[in-house]
Amino acid sequence: MANYVLNGIMGLCVADALGVPVEFMDRNTLADNPVVGMRAYGTYNQPAGTWSDDTSMTLCLADSLSRGLNYNDIMQNFLKWFKKGEFTPFGSAFDIGNTTRQALKRLEQGAAPLECGGNTEYDNGNGSLMRILPLLFYLQSVYGREFYQEDEAFAVIHKVSALTHAHKRSQIACGLYISVAAMLPGEMNLKEAVNLGIGKAMEYYQNQEGFVEELKFYNRLKDKDFADLPSESIRSGGYVVSTLEAAIWCLLNTENYKDCVLKAVNLGSDTDTVAAVAGGLAGLKYGYTAIPQDWLGVIVKREYIESLCNQFYFAITR
Ligand SMILES: [Mg+2]
Repeated sequence: MANYVLNGIMGLCVADALGVPVEFMDRNTLADNPVVGMRAYGTYNQPAGTWSDDTSMTLCLADSLSRGLNYNDIMQNFLKWFKKGEFTPFGSAFDIGNTTRQALKRLEQGAAPLECGGNTEYDNGNGSLMRILPLLFYLQSVYGREFYQEDEAFAVIHKVSALTHAHKRSQIACGLYISVAAMLPGEMNLKEAVNLGIGKAMEYYQNQEGFVEELKFYNRLKDKDFADLPSESIRSGGYVVSTLEAAIWCLLNTENYKDCVLKAVNLGSDTDTVAAVAGGLAGLKYGYTAIPQDWLGVIVKREYIESLCNQFYFAITR
């Protein structure tokens, strides 16, 4: 069995690192000098191959899930990352989203893990979507390959999102993403796999009180011509709906890992996260060996990340 953990998480990490030097740069500026490979310095003045909070928080979740599902343990890992610089390239966290920062503050003030996440409409940044991927592998190990038929599996997705992002719109984004990601490995045609993933999650949400009202924000993803939308109508800021749309749009409009993540980065704005979310999907679709060697070669602490992926993989396939 292929190591899907490594495919997905390295796909996410490498894409994050591609986006870090140009985060916040707008699309038109990038169009004059597009990203074509790993760059150094830029926005955060970090060397090439430096990954950010997207990867750090993904590693926090993977590490915790390799010991089973424990919401407090996941939150303690997030604190170790933000306060102590664990799960980082160089020993300190250099970026964090507002909603995540506030959730960690509530935890330190004594709130229960599942009470920490922001739940207003303004708490719908992409901060839980960008770190949710490892949960796919855990759910498959517990509930089987058709985990998306289980209400309990969606409840777990929503709780893991709610540690930082508790609004239903963010929870749905995580549910849609995991459902799409689940369909990608294997022989199924890409467009069919994506549509099936979206369809299965939508089927679930359509019968869920409280969630069904939020589905309208995801209407464009249900449209069979979604991939044909022009790039001008694809936003790439930090709003969770935009990030999910942009990632899926990049996946559907390219045919390999490299083109998918470069397309995502060059949309501009929240480059690292849009690329990371797209990169997780592209890693699952095309596999670890499709990630360019020269990009993998500069990833800071590559061996550490890969051994963490392997530890998680062995824990859930044991
Ligand atoms: Mg980041």
